[in-house]
Amino acid sequence: MLLGVPKEIKTHEYRVGLTPGSVREYVARGHDVLVETGAGLGIGADDDVYRAAGATIAADAAEVFKRAEMVVKVKEPQPSEWVQLREGQILFTYLHLAPDPEQTKGLLASGCHAIAYETVTDRTGALPLLAPMSEVAGRLAIEAAGSALRRHAGGRGLLLGGVPGVAPARVLVIGGGVVGTHAARMAVGLGAEVTIVDRSVPRLRQLDELFGGRVRTRMSTIDSIEEELVDADVTVGAVLVPGASAPKLVSRAMLGRMKPRSVLVDVAIDQGGCFETSRPTTHENPTFEVDGVIHYCVANMPGAVPLTSSQALNNATLPFGLALADKGLAALDEDPHLLAGLNVSGGKVTNEAVAEALGLSF
Ligand code: NAD
Repeated sequence: MLLGVPKEIKTHEYRVGLTPGSVREYVARGHDVLVETGAGLGIGADDDVYRAAGATIAADAAEVFKRAEMVVKVKEPQPSEWVQLREGQILFTYLHLAPDPEQTKGLLASGCHAIAYETVTDRTGALPLLAPMSEVAGRLAIEAAGSALRRHAGGRGLLLGGVPGVAPARVLVIGGGVVGTHAARMAVGLGAEVTIVDRSVPRLRQLDELFGGRVRTRMSTIDSIEEELVDADVTVGAVLVPGASAPKLVSRAMLGRMKPRSVLVDVAIDQGGCFETSRPTTHENPTFEVDGVIHYCVANMPGAVPLTSSQALNNATLPFGLALADKGLAALDEDPHLLAGLNVSGGKVTNEAVAEALGLSF
């Protein structure tokens, strides 16, 4: 199969659909890969690196979209990309169609088969192509908190791990899923005192086992969050209620009871945020202050580390991509988890949740 990798054109998107390492894997299986010139510059891989991996370089995106049988990307296609997709072509990328009727219309009109990373499932019902970005965001949350805690950044002037003889920072993680676990892992690694609250007792049990008693776990209730919040130097919001906006677990009134210049990192901001006072920020201007509390609410955290993020994403997408390249659409018939990723096919919406959200027939 001929795979095509256009350069990402969404603002400040530096990730790339296929890393040079993935290109080698496809080429080793007998496939051809066409990469738009400069597509990998955001991760430090120039055209020569892609050529060495076995790719052919295309002069522009138009050539990629015209020739490729399968287009592999990171972000949802932009309007100038929808119009270049064509009937029968496979598109493999993040789509997030439910809140995006315009893009859905564009994909329907193209006649392509669009497989969304975020709805591919695994045997446990989890979302394996979404998890790597949550892992990155969770780990970054603690780095972001560490920076925001510094005095010149407006923070308390506190080192997360303390030093011998000086107490470390207290980190509260609300939501012990993928983001929360990776945030806790980083915080523990730096020597912070960590508490995780979650509303699932089985999950709290797993976390207790996983961290071998190195973190405190508490059931998520109004009381427990209030009690933990007043002592926390850093609070990471990492909750997810599938298919719903994030619940607001920290009110503005609560900020006044928190330590001055403590830090809130709202990773759940892409679902509306779990602190009442959160609003989306950017990597250029990541923090703002409300009632003396520093808020970090960057909606695309993994975009800060495109090299790590592209590699992590490729690790997860590669087996599915290879199956598609080897077998074409027949790969969907053989794998119900990959089929769960099919959102639009030949002019029809093929994902029930997307159809429902957009009021379209399924
Ligand atoms: P997940 O499903 O793995 O974990 C969510 C956890 O939240 C679960 O353990 C669940 O039990 C818990 N939870 C739900 N309601 C709760 C409540 N009221 N109190 C405490 N815990 C509660 O999800 P995830 O992959 O860890 O993602 C978490 C959030 O981070 C999502 O909103 C996701 O979209 C977001 N995210 C943001 C970025 C970013 O760049 N900002 C990147 C990746 C993920």
